[in-house]
Amino acid sequence: MTGGVSGGDPLVERMRPFGTTIFATMSALAVKTGAVNLGQGFPDTDGPTEMLDAAAAALRAGFNQYPPGPGMPVLREAVAAHQRRFWGLEYDPDGEVVVTAGATEAIAAAILALCEPGDEVVCFEPYYDSYAASIALARATRRPVTLRPGPDGRYAFDPDQLRAAFGPRTRLVLLNSPHNPTGKVFTRDELQLVADLCQEFGAYAVTDEVYEHLVFDDAGSPHVPLASLPGMRERTLRISSAGKTFSCTGWKIGWASGPASLVSAVLRVKQFLTFVNAGPLQPAVAVALNLPDAYFTGFTTGLQSQRDQLRAGLADAGFGVLQAEGTYFITTDIRPLGGTDGVEFCLGLPERSGVVAIPSQVFYDDKDAGRHLIRFAFCKRPEVIADAVTRLKP
Ligand SMILES: *Cc1c(COP(=O)(O)O)cnc(C)c1O
Repeated sequence: MTGGVSGGDPLVERMRPFGTTIFATMSALAVKTGAVNLGQGFPDTDGPTEMLDAAAAALRAGFNQYPPGPGMPVLREAVAAHQRRFWGLEYDPDGEVVVTAGATEAIAAAILALCEPGDEVVCFEPYYDSYAASIALARATRRPVTLRPGPDGRYAFDPDQLRAAFGPRTRLVLLNSPHNPTGKVFTRDELQLVADLCQEFGAYAVTDEVYEHLVFDDAGSPHVPLASLPGMRERTLRISSAGKTFSCTGWKIGWASGPASLVSAVLRVKQFLTFVNAGPLQPAVAVALNLPDAYFTGFTTGLQSQRDQLRAGLADAGFGVLQAEGTYFITTDIRPLGGTDGVEFCLGLPERSGVVAIPSQVFYDDKDAGRHLIRFAFCKRPEVIADAVTRLKP
């Protein structure tokens, strides 16, 4: 029976599989045990001063009311200029760019705008936790393709599994590269396989590129936006945000770029989710996007040295360390330390070693594929990483 207040869980059925996120559980454990929290991926330093000053100035200069629905023109222009500068992609700031409440809202709005109930979304597992929930909200179905570490420590997928995930109901592919939680950077050849299937099956692509500036110099590939491959611009919605690139994850300013028809579809849903957000922060993110190249290279090399520091510590502690080509994250195999189940291992780690990590299996539908893997974040100050490394020493 539906209708009426009848006790029991009032939550709609399709959202019931989504309980409290693992991040809440693990962060609470970090507080309780005083452990170093390398669980959730947020930086512990502020972004560029120019950006912070611009935000403070905008608050005082009267930018405190609703900005335009698609976002402030100055930010849309900066988003377009940034994509031209770094990736050679051309988008018209008027009609081909929309500002959203973080990449998260852009992804949700894209799925809600494009998927009918029963449509299928191909995505690579392990996946960012909002993907499955957004797909469920749209009553669409996820078709996961599994990333597994190979003998070289690099994550890869089986091209046959990718092809088998496509079918007559495939509406879109949701692709995150550089990839959280694996740190994988998809190569041009891998992207070409995705592009070919999108074109063969008439599917759209929605790309989550929030780590576009975090590809390290030993990665197997530079960052290649899927939209830059032949025939892909017209079917791709390219999503990014300020949070990761400018160390301001609490600001929640993101954007989607693509052909006008796709951007307009996102806008029509987005206007009833949040309408607009973060008025005074929008001109500040425009300042950040227009910073000279030195900011972006300095950001990448800084994170790379933090990665190297944590990677060496994890290897010394006896973990099987996998390649981390990009992002904020490094994943490790716990089996060399006698672990078999990442959830169990991570629940005990704060007490045992004073460090918090996240079990990768929570990001997989195929739990067995990720059972022995756990994820550490290295977007923390060098002294914090040094502390974690000391605690992890056997
Ligand atoms: C952090 C993250 C996001 C969320 O970005 P917001 O701009 O904070 O909404 C989306 N996708 C991935 C893969 C992330 O790691």
